[in-house]
Amino acid sequence: MTEKFRAYWLEESEGAVTGSLKEIETDHLPQGEVLIRVHYSDVNYKDGLASIKEGRVVREYPFIPGIDLAGEVISSEDQRFAVGDNVLCTGYGLGVSHFGGYSEQARVPADWLIKLPEGLTTREAMVLGTAGFTAGMSVEAILSAGVTPESGPVLVTGASGGVGSVAVAILSKLGFEVTASSGKEQEWELLKKLGAAHTISREEAQNPSKGPLGKSLWVAIVDPVGGAGTGERLKAIRYRGVLALSGLTGGGDFATSVHPFILRGVTLAGIDSVECPRPLRLDIWNKLAGEWKPDAVFQQAVHELPLEQLPEALARILKGKAVGRQLVRIS
Ligand code: NDP
Repeated sequence: MTEKFRAYWLEESEGAVTGSLKEIETDHLPQGEVLIRVHYSDVNYKDGLASIKEGRVVREYPFIPGIDLAGEVISSEDQRFAVGDNVLCTGYGLGVSHFGGYSEQARVPADWLIKLPEGLTTREAMVLGTAGFTAGMSVEAILSAGVTPESGPVLVTGASGGVGSVAVAILSKLGFEVTASSGKEQEWELLKKLGAAHTISREEAQNPSKGPLGKSLWVAIVDPVGGAGTGERLKAIRYRGVLALSGLTGGGDFATSVHPFILRGVTLAGIDSVECPRPLRLDIWNKLAGEWKPDAVFQQAVHELPLEQLPEALARILKGKAVGRQLVRIS
C-alpha cells in the first residue's frame, strides 16, 4: 500500500540545486528490505555539501539528502528486523546515492541498519549521528594505539563542530586532559562545559615550527579540520602518539615529512565512518550508548529544529557557523 508523506526534495535546474519540502509517496522510495518511519535526522558537514552543486556529493537529482536517520520499522523483508524495532542508519550510500533521512519515510537495505543499542533513544542516536560516530571511531583509534589518559594531554580541533564537540565530551569523560581548539571564541565557555580543560585558537592549534619536528605537545589529536594545519600538528605529537584524521573543513592538502613517523613513531590514523566494518560499527555504537555516552553533549550542545528549517541549518554548517549538533525532528 502506498502512503503520502513529506520529504526534503533537491532538484537541479540550470546548473543550480534547490531544495523544498515536497509530498511524495512510498512508491518513490528506492529499493531496500526495510521501510522506516523516520523520527529524527541531523545535519553533518557532508549534508551541507550534498545540498549544493559544487559539493559534488550527490551525482543525480532529484534527490532526498540526509546521511543519517533513526526511527521505527514499518515493514521488513529481512528477518533481522521486525515491525516496531527502533533502528539507526549512518553512512554507506544513505543521503549520497540512496534517498536519505530528510524524509518521513525511508527504505534502506537491511545490511545498512543497526538496531538501536540499549541506552540510546532515536533522538539521542541522531544527536550523535555520523559526527558522533566519527568522534567515536577517532577515540577508538587512539585507545587501540595504547594511549591512555596517563600518557598525556590530547588536542581536539574544530572543537565547536559536530565531530569535535562529541570528541571533547567523550575524551574528557574517559579522563583525558583535553585541549579544545576553536575559531569561535564565544563558544570557549561551552567547550569547558563539554569537558575541555583548556581552550586555544585555531592558529595556536596549528603551532607552526620551522624544522621537521616541533615541541612534543600532544599524545593524541582528534583532527576533523585537516588542511595545512594537520602537517604542523603532526610535528607536535609526542613519542608514539596518534593523530586521528577525519575531515577537511580546513582544506584537503597538507605537507609532512618522514620525521614524525621515523623519529617519534607517530601514527596517522585515517578515519572513515562510511564503510566502517560492521563488527567495529556495532562495537562503537554500543560504547556510545554506554561507557562513552557523552552526556554533556545532550545537555549542552543540541540545537533541535523542524524539517522546515533545514535550509538555514544546511547553510549554517557550510559557513562553519554551526555549534555542536543540529538535530532535525522529522516525524
Ligand atoms: P562541523 O561544521 O560541525 O564542524 C567543523 C568545524 O571545523 C567547525 O565547527 C569549525 O570549528 C572548524 N572549521 C570550520 N571551517 C574551518 C576552517 N576554514 N579552518 C579551520 N577550521 C574550520 O562539521 P562536522 O563536525 O560534521 O564535520 C567535520 C569534518 O569531518 C568535515 O570535514 C566532514 O566532512 C568530516 N567528516 C568525516 C567523516 C569521515 O568518515 N571521515 C565523517 C563525519 C565528518 P571551530 O569554529 O570550533 O574551529
